[in-house]
Amino acid sequence: MKKIRICIDEGHGLSSYKSCLKSLDPNQTKEWWLNDRVADKLESALKDYDCEVIRTDDTTGKTDVSLSKRVLKANNFEADVFISIHHNGGINGGSGGGTTVFYCSSKAERKKQAQALYDAVVKQTKLVGNRSSKIVKKGFTVIKKTTMPAFLIENGFMDSKVDLPIILSEAHADKTVVGIINFLTTEFALQKTVVEEKEPVQQSYELKTLKRGSTGNDVTIFESILKKLGYYGGEIDINFGPACVKACNDFQQQYPECGTNGKPDSSWGPACWKKVLSILKA
Ligand SMILES: [Zn+2]
Repeated sequence: MKKIRICIDEGHGLSSYKSCLKSLDPNQTKEWWLNDRVADKLESALKDYDCEVIRTDDTTGKTDVSLSKRVLKANNFEADVFISIHHNGGINGGSGGGTTVFYCSSKAERKKQAQALYDAVVKQTKLVGNRSSKIVKKGFTVIKKTTMPAFLIENGFMDSKVDLPIILSEAHADKTVVGIINFLTTEFALQKTVVEEKEPVQQSYELKTLKRGSTGNDVTIFESILKKLGYYGGEIDINFGPACVKACNDFQQQYPECGTNGKPDSSWGPACWKKVLSILKA
């Protein structure tokens, strides 16, 4: 099955002026930082899933990649889904806010999916807010010009006194990622990578050293092989008797490296087994 291709689009570079409202956040945390935290966590979480992932942004934040380049990259990648991650602004310290998901396509399915993304994320983050429209059809370049289902999430307001403490928290980013993955699982059949169990290592069967008086299956194997090769003339049984000793010595006579100091030694050891099995295989 083809792996689903996911395009993550962190919305801005570090050079973007967009940041948290100073009166609420003296650090004036950059939107890039908030977006990038979610994007990084999402990218990392997706490593456990059967998918291919690319980022259209510069993950260092140094470059604010142009919108047209982002679109081109997503289209060339032939992504199955495009998700742009942003944090919102525009209420100047008020108490409103919340999450908004934007989509652009007029297909009914896309609106349904935008709603599914909103629901999945807000189920985790609880950042419902007070917006009258939770999902909005709008022609933002990255969701308009991309050729695959594309969504832009504004994951809370950077200038809302209600949203800001929440969106600054790491937990909010983690929950957002859980929501997005749940959405991808439901709407795009994203699946966890199945870890295949390794084949058990083949146990090598150790053949015993045989000598006068030995008994057991290994003797039977010895007799059968040496009979086939013309060294053993006795009955096939489990007892290493005189006929076996003779066969052993005759074999070692022919293959002196299997004896002791080049001479037959009446003992059928590892070197003999190795030799006879190699003859059988040949
Ligand atoms: Zn933004």
